[in-house]
Amino acid sequence: AETYHAVTGHIAHSRNLQHADSGRITQHIEISLPEGTNYAEGDHMGILPVNPESLVKRVLRRFHLDAAAHLVLSVQGRSSAHLPAGVPVRLDDLLHRSIELQETATRAQIREMAACTVCPPHAKELQSLLAEDTYQTEVRAKRLTMLELLERYEACELPFERFLELLPALKPRYYSISSSPRVSWTQASITVSVVRESAWSGYGEYRGIASNYLSQLETGAEVLMFIRSPESGFELPNNPATPLIMVGPGTGVAPFRGFIQARQILRAEGQKLGPAHLYFGCRNPEHDYLYREEFEQAARENLVTLHTAFSRVEGTEKCYVQHLLRQDGEMLLSLLEDGARMYICGDGSRMAPEVEQTLIVSYQDKYGVDADEAASWLSRLEAEGQYVKDVWAG
Ligand code: FAD
Repeated sequence: AETYHAVTGHIAHSRNLQHADSGRITQHIEISLPEGTNYAEGDHMGILPVNPESLVKRVLRRFHLDAAAHLVLSVQGRSSAHLPAGVPVRLDDLLHRSIELQETATRAQIREMAACTVCPPHAKELQSLLAEDTYQTEVRAKRLTMLELLERYEACELPFERFLELLPALKPRYYSISSSPRVSWTQASITVSVVRESAWSGYGEYRGIASNYLSQLETGAEVLMFIRSPESGFELPNNPATPLIMVGPGTGVAPFRGFIQARQILRAEGQKLGPAHLYFGCRNPEHDYLYREEFEQAARENLVTLHTAFSRVEGTEKCYVQHLLRQDGEMLLSLLEDGARMYICGDGSRMAPEVEQTLIVSYQDKYGVDADEAASWLSRLEAEGQYVKDVWAG
């Protein structure tokens, strides 16, 4: 917590934005900020998560340890700097707050586990996982963790202290703030897609640490958090008359909720607003159209023009935001020529590259240039801050 200058916020309100039939959860979480904490639209909130009881219990069981035991760690080297040294800590506190328990096992970890395995056939099995192909298919693709391997290989006598040292520090997770401080500067909201699905290992359900931790926090609960402004300059333009193009399917829409809230306040203050287009996508409007009522109300008030793409509606073709952007290519390019600011937020592995490709093709069509020239145009827009991305790998 000290590393990140984290402060304690409190849950003010939390609700699932998805319909009960969707089978998925996207949690809208309002957090009361401690005094002195400031933020701007488009900022990120860093959250220091807590490992769940179920995982902590599995570690205690595997090493035959007592949750309430206290220990004093003497740690050496930079790789252990995240472990609290020289002070008595309760064992379960340490396991809840200090280390990642669900990261994929690394080769170095498996090598050390094999060396500590007293049953030769099991040691051999562990060693066989180190071969490049086997490691990729049996460990990485299944995302096997050290804890899972230790549970599988009872004869592995890796000392508990070594287990602690080998695991990385529990990382903060970042969430785009989905509110505007102009509405309330003492409260900020985040929009969290809860990672919960059949585990790639084939055993049980995989639950992401931070998203599940956050989704079960009740009103009044404490949460360790900090605010960070993205280096990309993902913020509202200084001049409210600048046209905006916002592309944010799924939880990528989060910062744009803050932008739209800000526009409402700016207009009420008498500012002249430029046009704003929001491209939002989800599976089905009945299930996972996040903040639907708010956005539709904002559209009625001419704060934004909505463009929605749905990918799983029976009887209709799959539609993604990039399809809508392709149709609107002419209009978007004219807005960009007029100095519009374009933003993309959300999935960086598929959505963002496809959106960029769509823009490049639209530019080629309009100006009859080749792909390289069109790509240079987009890079130029990005370098000049006219086109800004806030994307992450899912
Ligand atoms: P983790 O415990 O970190 O687990 C996630 C890992 O598990 C991934 O490596 C994934 O590949 C893997 N995994 C996924 N499914 C399975 C499975 N079935 N079996 C095995 N492994 C699996 N998220 C939001 O919801 N809203 C936001 O606004 C938002 N903004 C972000 C902004 C930034 C700048 C960044 C970097 C990320 C943002 N994220 C956002 C993502 C967020 O930070 C977390 O990464 C996300 O919530 C998952 O964290 P977790 O702790 O729940 O999952």
